[in-house]
Amino acid sequence: MREIYYNSTRGLNENFTASEAILQGIAGDGGLFVPNNIPFINEEELKECKHMNFKQLSLYISKKFFTDFDENELKKCIDMAYEHKFESEDIAPLNKEGNVFYLELFHGPTLAFKDIALCLLPHLMKAAAKKQNLRKDIVILTATSGDTGKAALEGFSDVEGTKVVVFFPEEGVSNIQKKQMITQTGTNVKVVGIKGNFDDAQREVKRIFNDVEFKKELEKKSYMFSSANSINIGRLIPQIVYYFHGYMELLRKGEIKFGEKINFAVPTGNFGNILAAYYSKKMGLPINRLLCASNENKVLYDFLNTGIYDAEREFLVTISPSMDILISSNLERLIYDISGRDAGIVKDLMDDLSKRGKYKISEHMKNEMKIFYGGFASDEETRQSIREVFNKYKYLMDTHTSVSYSVYKKYLRDTDDNTKTIIVSTASPFKFTRSVMGTLDDKYNSKDDFQLIEVMSKVAELKIPKPIEKLSKCKIQHSTVCEINQMESEVEKFLK
Ligand SMILES: *Cc1c(COP(=O)(O)O)cnc(C)c1O
Repeated sequence: MREIYYNSTRGLNENFTASEAILQGIAGDGGLFVPNNIPFINEEELKECKHMNFKQLSLYISKKFFTDFDENELKKCIDMAYEHKFESEDIAPLNKEGNVFYLELFHGPTLAFKDIALCLLPHLMKAAAKKQNLRKDIVILTATSGDTGKAALEGFSDVEGTKVVVFFPEEGVSNIQKKQMITQTGTNVKVVGIKGNFDDAQREVKRIFNDVEFKKELEKKSYMFSSANSINIGRLIPQIVYYFHGYMELLRKGEIKFGEKINFAVPTGNFGNILAAYYSKKMGLPINRLLCASNENKVLYDFLNTGIYDAEREFLVTISPSMDILISSNLERLIYDISGRDAGIVKDLMDDLSKRGKYKISEHMKNEMKIFYGGFASDEETRQSIREVFNKYKYLMDTHTSVSYSVYKKYLRDTDDNTKTIIVSTASPFKFTRSVMGTLDDKYNSKDDFQLIEVMSKVAELKIPKPIEKLSKCKIQHSTVCEINQMESEVEKFLK
């Protein structure tokens, strides 16, 4: 098999192996690691995928990208990641309601799709550290819009040789998301609320990563930074697996013929989830269109339609908080690809973004993004969809999933495409009980998130997921709140 190397989207050619790229998280010049080649799966191989369960598929895909790991190492990592941690036997069940398919990615320990990659990443990192003879402790710095934080905490808690610091917007997550994070146990974890939004947190984390002085100081203490955000290639690649899995499920259920193209509708914020879908397409998975669904922070919708990325706008707090993002980091990897892998272009555009808050791509690059359909849904539209699907099918979507359902409906109105479509379902409604129940009936608005857990369970006839059931008994472990410019010193204090 061909060796794969990882280099920066902004031109620094370090030719890192997968294990080096996973450990380092972000490239030395501030760019993102991209594989020098995206492995292609031919028809014969694709046919074999039909007979693989989720874990086998995960091994199959990981092997193609993480070429400096041997099969046994990867298999061990994957077993540890997925055994006993998911409430659903096949990790990501595909559900059908009416003519629509829902790929439920939320049956893991924190009830959001990020579990799928973040259950695996810590094991990949540990294996990578061993492979590289790393004698330092890895410090995971994470900015979260709500779900990454808890999934990273859950994944790294008490993992030897690692420490985790999570920053979340104090005012920008649901009460249940917040409680999940601040009750996290483990001797190696720290959770800090910040007075700012997700973009502020993400920008500052990236700055800390590139603070040369700070880095030197840490090295003296035998620490190195890495990232659990989807900028880490070790997060991105495991997400490719469920697109293949979703396709194979449709095949196995006889819903499509082999080779038939399908669409995915993906609720999008940082562009990590949908980028994995784009990579799947490049690998040969038969995909027709990718529906990029935004909430009212519709930077991506505007970008896909105009070729202008403009983050200079008001940041809105919506009922789908995990998508309240104006700077979508992973878009940089798409830009790299559609520019013909021209790091010079990427660097110029990213400079524009950091200096002027916007950039414009060429007509040619814009044409290269035609596989994407950009759409957005307002909070009201998101609520309408939740009601519509629940009333028709007694199927309860969370707010994020509902954004992509809403965009799918717009897509049907805008086009005459009748390709089978999978709605990527990214969170359990139990994470957003207030928004979801308040949508079904005003009378629930007087109750708080925690009271509504039981109510939701009764009304939707759903079992309360175990991680939620536990939550009421958990003690608060973290109460620090800081300003953006204090984030670095919080990290420092924690590492003392
Ligand atoms: C993170 C998240 C998203 C957005 O995914 P990106 O990879 O950031 O685009 C959508 N829905 C939920 C529930 C999430 O947690």
